[in-house]
Amino acid sequence: MTKRSAVLAGIAGLFLAGGAVARAAEAMVTHTDAEWRKLLPPESYEVLRHEATERAFSSPLDEETRAGTYACAGCDLSLYSSKTKFDSGTGWPSFWAPLPHAVTTRSDASEPMLGIRTAVQCRRCDGHLGHVFDDGPKPTGLRYCMNGVALRFRPGKAA
Ligand SMILES: [Zn+2]
Repeated sequence: MTKRSAVLAGIAGLFLAGGAVARAAEAMVTHTDAEWRKLLPPESYEVLRHEATERAFSSPLDEETRAGTYACAGCDLSLYSSKTKFDSGTGWPSFWAPLPHAVTTRSDASEPMLGIRTAVQCRRCDGHLGHVFDDGPKPTGLRYCMNGVALRFRPGKAA
């Protein structure tokens, strides 16, 4: 190995190590079901860990209009900015876009009467947040229909 290629290999090694550190920093937040039950209020536990749906118009966050950030009630990851919140009239806090790298989605066939829906989870703790529909406003046309008990509002500068 020449000196130059050794240096290059060393630099490549540093980049790889840096990538591993970045991935570790983004590690999932995981708990057993029993731990989640202890950590969360009962209604948040049922939604986040067992995909329950809160009663429409039951969450104070539905009518929240202040600037701020909506974080995951399970792991505190920032999920939505108040800038993307809108009044969908459904009785659930609704947003037209999540923050970057905040949520994941998966196909949900658990309620045959409602057809195949797209469930939305927190990227970091995989907690169930709600569903996303394609009848939202511009600019995305999406409606992220969220359970308020799965969110924690932090008033302040919008993310
Ligand atoms: Zn989370």
